[in-house]
Amino acid sequence: MAEIQRRRTPTVQIGPVRVGWEVPVVVQSMTNTDTADVQATIDQVAALALSGSELVRVTVNNEDAAAAVPHIVEGLEKRGLRVPVIGDFHYNGHILLKKFPAAARALAKYRINPGNVSIGRKDDDNFRTMIECAVENQKPVRIGVNWGSLDQALLTRMMDENSRRPEPLSARDVMMEAMVASALSSAAAAERYGLRHDQIILSAKVSGVRDLIDVYSTLAARCDYPLHLGLTEAGMGTKGVIASTAGLAPLLLAGIGDTIRVSLTPKPGGDRTEEVQAAQQILQSLSIRSFMPQVTSCPGCGRTTSTYFQELAEQIQSYLRTQMPEWRKKYPGVEELKLAVMGCVVNGPGESKHANLGISLPGTFEEPKAPVYIDGKLSTTLRGDTIVAEFKQILDRYVESHYGQKAASGELVGTR
Ligand code: SF4
Repeated sequence: MAEIQRRRTPTVQIGPVRVGWEVPVVVQSMTNTDTADVQATIDQVAALALSGSELVRVTVNNEDAAAAVPHIVEGLEKRGLRVPVIGDFHYNGHILLKKFPAAARALAKYRINPGNVSIGRKDDDNFRTMIECAVENQKPVRIGVNWGSLDQALLTRMMDENSRRPEPLSARDVMMEAMVASALSSAAAAERYGLRHDQIILSAKVSGVRDLIDVYSTLAARCDYPLHLGLTEAGMGTKGVIASTAGLAPLLLAGIGDTIRVSLTPKPGGDRTEEVQAAQQILQSLSIRSFMPQVTSCPGCGRTTSTYFQELAEQIQSYLRTQMPEWRKKYPGVEELKLAVMGCVVNGPGESKHANLGISLPGTFEEPKAPVYIDGKLSTTLRGDTIVAEFKQILDRYVESHYGQKAASGELVGTR
């Protein structure tokens, strides 16, 4: 497998988390609670952090939200969670950061959208005020351009200039160029106002996959700031996950991207942590980072008419999910474990042999037995109604014997 050559960037320190070329790509997420609701926001940040989000952003959209921020950070610390909380500012960040200095201190990073900090002004005093707060509190900043709120004055100027060219670019290309220009000119201004080069992260989010790849490729070629990747407004469910994967994968494989977010629209009352699982799965599927043991399972076909193997695959997957918070602490390296749950003899034994632990269930007309392979060798054959329970026991023993020992000998060390 060809090694991914990460784009070299400075390393940005965000609380205890580092972002940049020297460290693994970081997963982040954003809450959808009312930030002013301290308890609900603590609960959701905690859930996101415990599911693996290494940075969590909260909107800071009004005075109540800004007043709540220090209490949220304090509440998380009381729970033993040191996840950096990032403040997302639009329109009034310059006012809130000045009026609520405790919030400015408690936040680990500020996200500034250059498209809406100085609307209706000829100067950039609002932007400068926010940067000066960041400098005063020694906080890094993400300059987050979004095509839905792109600096309209800049775009209009660039469109006018383009129309005077002998061979004008398409409106879409000017828009992409304007996003890059907005991010880079804002970063340059932030440095002029005193922010260090290694305190700046950039993003340029769009909602089209091809646009995302183009805009980030251009941005990556023109600067060395760490980049936060994400397809904005990716959508719901399968569409959101697939569109995000299609957009992020080519960039990540090209070594572009230092933090990622998958912006899924949850179902009403849905689980916000799905966006964290999706981001982790993208990184793990690309062999960039490991978070969870991976289960290979076949799709099933007419050779296996019962749903038994689907149920087993599902049960093993959810067993891993419930065990992982504990296993992660006790068994360093367990996230590299590979399992196979296969439906019949055609590919079952072969796929099982490629996994650390594999089980090949009996297809419709096969003998009712399930051979289990451990590290490529047939270990035992399970029969009867206790296949699931026995396979879980084998899994527990494997984890204990392989990763418990490695933890004790210090042979394996987690990535973070
Ligand atoms: S392993 Fe067997 S059951 Fe699964 S898809 Fe292949 S042939 Fe069908």
